[in-house]
Amino acid sequence: MIKPFMPQLVYIEPRALEYPLGVELKKKFEDMGLEIRKTTSHNQVRDIPGKNHLQQYRNAKSTLVVGVRKTLDFDTSKPSAEYAIPLATGCMGHCHYCYLQTTMGSKPYIRTYVNTDEIFDRAKQYMEERAPEMTRFEASCTSDIVGVDHLTHSLKRAIEYFGKTDMGRLRFVTKFHHVDHLLDADHNGRTRFRFSVNAAYVIKNFEPGTSPLDQRIEAAVKVAKAGYPLGFIVAPIYIHEGWQEGYKELFQKLYDAIPKELQTDITFEMIQHRFTKPAKRVIQKNYPKTKLEMDEEERRYKWGRYGIGKYIYQKEEEYSLRETLESYIDHYFPNAKIEYFT
Ligand code: SF4
Repeated sequence: MIKPFMPQLVYIEPRALEYPLGVELKKKFEDMGLEIRKTTSHNQVRDIPGKNHLQQYRNAKSTLVVGVRKTLDFDTSKPSAEYAIPLATGCMGHCHYCYLQTTMGSKPYIRTYVNTDEIFDRAKQYMEERAPEMTRFEASCTSDIVGVDHLTHSLKRAIEYFGKTDMGRLRFVTKFHHVDHLLDADHNGRTRFRFSVNAAYVIKNFEPGTSPLDQRIEAAVKVAKAGYPLGFIVAPIYIHEGWQEGYKELFQKLYDAIPKELQTDITFEMIQHRFTKPAKRVIQKNYPKTKLEMDEEERRYKWGRYGIGKYIYQKEEEYSLRETLESYIDHYFPNAKIEYFT
């Protein structure tokens, strides 16, 4: 049983206290008896305790910074949405393969933004620019937002904000099961609630600090019963001994747990395991004992943005993964929509 995230240390940027949510969170954390420190900007969160890199990295992942989002330009978020909506960055999980290790660099702490109304206003502009086309916003590009939301409720606000818009849709994905506070949100069917799932081997070996699969599935059933459109991201799809059976068991479990009447509007997204050379270096530093296979020789190189290519599976392996997983989905969830395999 994994407990809801509780930071060991909280930093509050002074500007955050100009927003009601900043004041509310400060009071809340004081009442909880958490250690609170002031900082002038998140770049000055330098004195995270720890004697060496590994300790500091671990401590940073249990540090929460309450701040203001200054950059209100949203990144694009292909293929799952048009834009990434920034509500938080960083994550308390310890997935070995997580790309946040490279993108967050030396600042792996969790940062939550209190200027949510400004963020929503910016989202509105993006929707207006694209109208009459629908605009989808992904809330989990830079964090596992559900993992921290029981403390901040900023995701809940976003769900209710998009519940009232006509041209916007919200989506996010999580590996945590702490969803109870989101069940009564006024989502109006405009938020797709997705869970990240995988074969037992991958979860056991590479996803420490996240909820076990059974709890993620239980949470998925709860949110579907609360009327949310439901989705699953199978990622990273990873070749390991017995992977065919491992992924089959996963779909069997999903099929057994989700009531039939809720199996009509489910989406699946599939992402094969990939790594870049810089990511491999960071992973080996943060998780030196990892069993994660990252042998460039075994993989196929695919050119990427900024000249940093990624290593994905060989063509035949990719084909076999895709065929196999799609056949499971067709078998267990014939009414589901496969959004993409990448
Ligand atoms: Fe990264 Fe998601 Fe794991 Fe968090 S739960 S460490 S965001 S992969």
